[in-house]
Amino acid sequence: MSVEDLYREVILDHYRNPRHRGELSDPDARAEGQNPLCGDEITLTLRLDAEGVADAAFSGTGCSISQASASMMTEAIIGKSLGQINDLTHRFKAMMTIEEGDSGVDESRPGSTLGDLEALQGVRKFPVRIKCADLPWVALQEALEEAG
Ligand code: ZN
Repeated sequence: MSVEDLYREVILDHYRNPRHRGELSDPDARAEGQNPLCGDEITLTLRLDAEGVADAAFSGTGCSISQASASMMTEAIIGKSLGQINDLTHRFKAMMTIEEGDSGVDESRPGSTLGDLEALQGVRKFPVRIKCADLPWVALQEALEEAG
């Protein structure tokens, strides 16, 4: 199995069996994102505590890339501090080359890998789909800004 096949399997697995799908009741932060180019919609709800994101859930419709990215993202951010989430967001955007240049993140730091999210790097070959992968991350930034 090639790396690309493996990535495709990971994306399809998240698409077919999404993690943390739904909406939290009485969330501390909520944001909606839309990608009209593809018809993707994401609603993200977050529960925050003093440490950072205590829980997260997403709902929405759209292509496999957008939904899988949302599933992977919720899995990656739950239990993380806002600093760690910021770091993760920069890593993700750097991997997708949405952000230019290296943010100076130490790749060898334990626990700092992107995990399943790395499967999305194949998407950057298809610029029109990058917005699909980025959609939940835009909603995340909005939700966190709204929460202050
Ligand atoms: Zn899409």
